[in-house]
Amino acid sequence: MQIQKMEKRIEEIKGKLVLIGEMRPGSLNEQLTVCGRSNCRCTAPKKPQKHGPYYQLSYVHQGKSTSQFVQKEWVGAVRSQLANYKHFKALTAEWVDIALTLAKEKLRADKERHKGETLALEQKQRAIRGTRSRDMTR
Ligand SMILES: [Zn+2]
Repeated sequence: MQIQKMEKRIEEIKGKLVLIGEMRPGSLNEQLTVCGRSNCRCTAPKKPQKHGPYYQLSYVHQGKSTSQFVQKEWVGAVRSQLANYKHFKALTAEWVDIALTLAKEKLRADKERHKGETLALEQKQRAIRGTRSRDMTR
């Protein structure tokens, strides 16, 4: 990718990040449980019906993993927060990728420019030396 294209893409990413709504990291799991009480539908010998589904949200923050139950009425909102976080992560990961490549490219371009300048300077110095040495042979 060209430097200009990379810079443009970073600007696009910034624009998209601004639009991200509520977010949170983690994953949501559905669980069905057995309560263990006798004569409960969950342990019925024929067609047992487990309790639930219950929704458990698990996430890792600052190296600590946590999980908590989520009320059914919040499941939709939580799913959307989780999706927003994924989007956020994908965008920032792409930004970092491009930032690293961009930094490398700029450094390389700068070196090329310096190499050109150094080469021109060396040629000039050689030319001067050449004149001098010719002078000395006289
Ligand atoms: Zn039960």
